[in-house]
Amino acid sequence: MHPLQCVLRAQRCLRRGPLASVSWLLLRTCRAHSSVPSSACPSPERQQEDGVWKDFSSRLATGPTFQDFLRSASVPPEQPSSSEVEDPPPYLTVDELLGRQRRVYLETYGCQMNVNDTEIAWSILQKSGYLRTSNLQEADVILLVTCSIRGKAEQTIWNRLHQLKSLKSKRLRSRVPLRIGILGCMAERLKEEILNREKMVDILAGPDAYRDLPRLLAVAESGQQAANVLLSLDETYADVMPVQTSPSATSAFVSIMRGCDNMCSYCIVPFTRGRERSRPVASILEEVRKLSEQGLKEVTLLGQNVNSFRDNSEVQFNNAVSTNLSRGFSTNYKAKQGGLRFAHLLDQVSRIDPEMRIRFTSPHPKDFPDEVLQLIHERDNICKQIHLPAQSGSSRVLEAMRRGYSREAYVELIQHIRESIPGVSLSSDFIAGFCGETEEDHLQTVSLLREVRYNIGFLFAYSMRQTRAYHRLKDDIPEEVKLRRLEELITVFREEATKANKSFVGCTQLVLVEGPSKRSATDLCGRNDGNLKVIFADVEMEDATDSGLRVRAQPGDYVLVKITSASSQTLKGHVLCKTTLKDSTAYC
Ligand code: SAM
Ligand code: SF4
Repeated sequence: MHPLQCVLRAQRCLRRGPLASVSWLLLRTCRAHSSVPSSACPSPERQQEDGVWKDFSSRLATGPTFQDFLRSASVPPEQPSSSEVEDPPPYLTVDELLGRQRRVYLETYGCQMNVNDTEIAWSILQKSGYLRTSNLQEADVILLVTCSIRGKAEQTIWNRLHQLKSLKSKRLRSRVPLRIGILGCMAERLKEEILNREKMVDILAGPDAYRDLPRLLAVAESGQQAANVLLSLDETYADVMPVQTSPSATSAFVSIMRGCDNMCSYCIVPFTRGRERSRPVASILEEVRKLSEQGLKEVTLLGQNVNSFRDNSEVQFNNAVSTNLSRGFSTNYKAKQGGLRFAHLLDQVSRIDPEMRIRFTSPHPKDFPDEVLQLIHERDNICKQIHLPAQSGSSRVLEAMRRGYSREAYVELIQHIRESIPGVSLSSDFIAGFCGETEEDHLQTVSLLREVRYNIGFLFAYSMRQTRAYHRLKDDIPEEVKLRRLEELITVFREEATKANKSFVGCTQLVLVEGPSKRSATDLCGRNDGNLKVIFADVEMEDATDSGLRVRAQPGDYVLVKITSASSQTLKGHVLCKTTLKDSTAYC
């Protein structure tokens, strides 16, 4: 029998009904094929549990059918708690699906979406009876939540896997075997390559397959490699409440949509995270309400393309109103219609708790209609901070990147935003050395950085991925040129950001306190409305919310800080008093 005992190419994921995705689900067994190295098979100590193994083996031999796999993908939306597991696939028992107090160690790489995904994965495993540990040595299961955006991100994971290999091989026989899993974008992108290259990897779960983790881990218990990399058209984990891992945290990420339809020519995200889909407004509001009740003071609405949010779950809102794009912007996909849009969501979320700051990331410049800008301007608790990823300052490169705008349209949008939201803080992403980028193109990016003067910037050297650019363009900029250009962009960004941030000196900023500064035990750190880090001495101050009492700032407090100095990344100042968000605003 072929080692890939079951490779299913399913046109339709039956998970949630007829709307479905093209992808695949894979269960791999090692004993079925003699050429599979023994390292992939159960170790001798595992065979002590041979009763289980043989039983599993014989059940596997009489084996799951095609229908069984489809049924196993059809997990009901409400993940059952351990005592509620009713209908395991025929090749597993209810008991095997339970975590049985196995300890899970989760490690997160990459963007904030992955931080949120880690919490979702953990929420699902916790319900299945797993325990969490922050001690690697104590773990029975190690799960890496991975990123594929650039080659370097993937290399980090390969290196980490080599370290974990020795942990696995040195595992004491008296303990249950250590299981290792790759979750997220890299699992989605590299699928079989990971299973083949790293025999010590037991499970793979793509970004839309976290509900399947208990089943995958149950299969792995018997020494099998198991994978689910199905992408879905409608999975938003709307009903999975992420577990806030740090109880003292002042802020949280709330995922509002997944996937991306933009297909920028350099970007792997649409391939690893699938089609764009939005979470129903009601479930987002419920999560934000709960976070507010827990005392959190800031939520960041999260997605690859947040401002193209469109909740189509309520049929009555599916009117024929089509998308209102920013002037001079176009999309790579057919115009979408109807649904509840981002302005509606932002409005509703910001009404929940006037003391809760609202941010969002990452938006795309094309989706900034006036009602969104107006709302940001009007509402005290929506931060006056917009991330506006430009990627390049050259219209020619922007076209090759398929960004859907020219430099001129982007600059016009910046001007419009600055007029609509005075004092707005701007941040951006840039890529240096994209295919065909000339020195002249590069200088145009330099000049855009000077012209806009961003407060915060994320700059990257182009990393070839298997995307449209890989197939149609040439990665023709030598690595040293990419790095030299990146250095130049960073230098210019820093010079300009320093100038922009110096304009805060002498001003009073409303700061949400996060906790002690990493650099000095006598300082505290927090963030202003524009998301800049603000450092100030931890001293007694007046509590303006409690008739002038003298207090020390605590995480989650709002304080007014008079800014005395600024760099490209940080503001410094002295604290004036404790206050509330609605009773005070920043001033100069
Ligand atoms: N959706 C967001 C947008 O359109 O701006 C960005 C999300 S992406 C995860 C974050 C950033 O990674 C991008 O804005 C881009 O600057 C960078 N990026 C994406 N693909 C890249 C690549 N192949 N090489 C270098 N940087 C890349
Ligand atoms: Fe990638 Fe473009 Fe989508 Fe952003 S908008 S995630 S850069 S494809």
